Amino acid sequence: MATDSFRNNEIAVVALTRKGVALGRRLKTMLPGSHLYRPEKFGAGQENEHLFASAVKEVVNEVFHHYRYLVLVMAVGIAVRLVASPLRDKHQDPGVVVVDDAATFAISLLSGHIGGANRLAQRLSSLLGSQPVITTASDVAGTIPVDLLGREFGWEMEDNSNVTAVSAALVNEEPVGIYQDAGEANWWPQPEALPHNVSVFSSIEALSAAACQAALIISDRIFGQRTQASLPAHTIIYRPRSLVIGIGCNRGTKSSEIEAAVNTILAEQGLSIKSVRNLATIDLKQTEVGLVEFARRYGLAVAYFDKESLSQADFPSAPSAAALSSVGTPAVCESAAILSSGNAALITPKVSYQRAVTIAIARLPATGRSKPGGKLFVVGIGPGDAEQMTFKAREAIARSEIVIGYTAYIQLIAAFLGQKEVIATGMGTEVERVKRALSLAREGRTVSLVSSGDAGIYGMAGLVGEMLGQPTGAPPDIEVIPGVPALAATAALLGAPLSGDFAAISLSDYLVSWTEISQRLKLAAQANFVIVLYNPKSRQRQQELTRAKEIIGQYRSPLTAVGIVTNAYRRKQQITITDLAHMLDYEVGMNTTIIIGNSTTSVSNDWMVTPRGYQTRYNLKDGA
Ligand code: SAH
Repeated sequence: MATDSFRNNEIAVVALTRKGVALGRRLKTMLPGSHLYRPEKFGAGQENEHLFASAVKEVVNEVFHHYRYLVLVMAVGIAVRLVASPLRDKHQDPGVVVVDDAATFAISLLSGHIGGANRLAQRLSSLLGSQPVITTASDVAGTIPVDLLGREFGWEMEDNSNVTAVSAALVNEEPVGIYQDAGEANWWPQPEALPHNVSVFSSIEALSAAACQAALIISDRIFGQRTQASLPAHTIIYRPRSLVIGIGCNRGTKSSEIEAAVNTILAEQGLSIKSVRNLATIDLKQTEVGLVEFARRYGLAVAYFDKESLSQADFPSAPSAAALSSVGTPAVCESAAILSSGNAALITPKVSYQRAVTIAIARLPATGRSKPGGKLFVVGIGPGDAEQMTFKAREAIARSEIVIGYTAYIQLIAAFLGQKEVIATGMGTEVERVKRALSLAREGRTVSLVSSGDAGIYGMAGLVGEMLGQPTGAPPDIEVIPGVPALAATAALLGAPLSGDFAAISLSDYLVSWTEISQRLKLAAQANFVIVLYNPKSRQRQQELTRAKEIIGQYRSPLTAVGIVTNAYRRKQQITITDLAHMLDYEVGMNTTIIIGNSTTSVSNDWMVTPRGYQTRYNLKDGA
């Protein structure tokens, strides 16, 4: 259950104006499976569009309780009037997000937490480059959303009557204690960044002894009365899915007997049924009506194992001759619990209940936070224009607290930065940038290190990789997000010059010697590769391009097609198609990429094309 996934048929987008409808259509493509409701007057409908001629109020009334989320593309005032009449309460109403026609803001209007509108507003903002507007107190204060804690892991609250009181203690910055002994550990992005009024205790006794106003406990254990009484009055117990119950039963055992067995043994062991992740048994029991019925009633999945696997598991109790003769394995419940939990320890070895049911319980080890550090995204932002940036890149930036990059690139993505901490540094400070990004991620922060084009093509990912090898501490969690590289952007603007084999060569001799560069140019030219020249010129380097032209000219005709693109998908974009003989006649700078065709590259109608070879296979001219 990923936190940021929105499922099919869950989202209705409602738009009113022509501009709003255009935005609604973009949203429809970005949120697969969503439906767009829009006025009939704007022409024929497309897939997943519902046209209406009636008043929008009726439409909203009708769809309101049929979708989990509504995105209203309109003014907040109109939206408020529209949702007023179908409103019920926060447990039933959909999450509603309002987006203005220009996508400047994505406003979480209704059911921010439970309905997921806050999450959707964040998601839309990262897709559209809008500013999310979130007004829920716990988000504004950066504190723990008590009603949502662990929801993505399937945690359940033992009892939700204290939610309001505990939330109030958190928001009002009163002392709140936390104790956890089971389940996922990464429920809070950075443990060291918990709100200052929240303290984590290593034992339930220590928590009880402290003077906390409220407490959050994450445990599969049921605490005795004395312990309960010593806890703060406002305590919420979350039940992580940390237990696996291995189960065996006689054929024909009723579901009520299985229920009694499970409940009795869990109670004896002081464990909560709400923490059971699943049941596990032998595959013969797939048709055991009582067991199937019990699992269905409690919403528990059952994992089935064959007798061979069960026989081989490392079960602790004495082998059962009876089980061996009836089902072909000397152990059912213990082996099943061990196998289904991925070899976790049994906290309750086999217990028999009224000679009809046997139960063994395994506890999954606490998971999550394998690395204490934060996260480093190395993000390729594409050539410059926001439209050429991937969704994933926007999302990574949206998730980051800190964004680091070369000043010019930071300016290109200014629309996505909001209130984030930004570290923008000049040319030649790459090593410094990577050092800071790594050290911030090691401190537990979430950082995006941005690179133009693709981060792995003459970009920052290479440097990150090199610096990881240095003994400056454990590597943090790193994810490289690919971007549209300059060679692809340039090629797209020129036509299709890279349809065959090509070689990319950087003319910068800052890190590679000219001897090596010239050798590569020579060999690539000789082998008839299309050649992409990166870094053709800088203020300090003016001669390389002339020399490169001479080398390539030894192997290629002066009539060879050459494409020169400066500032692809940025302001002052310039596209030139010329030939090798004249390529030096045009202005070339730091933001230029040059593509030199091979012997088959041709130019027609301002298209530079390197034929893939279809022409020789099919007769394209006849339309065959
Ligand atoms: N990581 C980048 C390359 C960085 S090296 C990528 O994947 O594209 C810098 C060189 O990239 C520049 O000298 C230029 O040759 C090329 N470049 C970067 N952005 C460009 C743009 N918008 N238009 C044309 N060339 C560009």
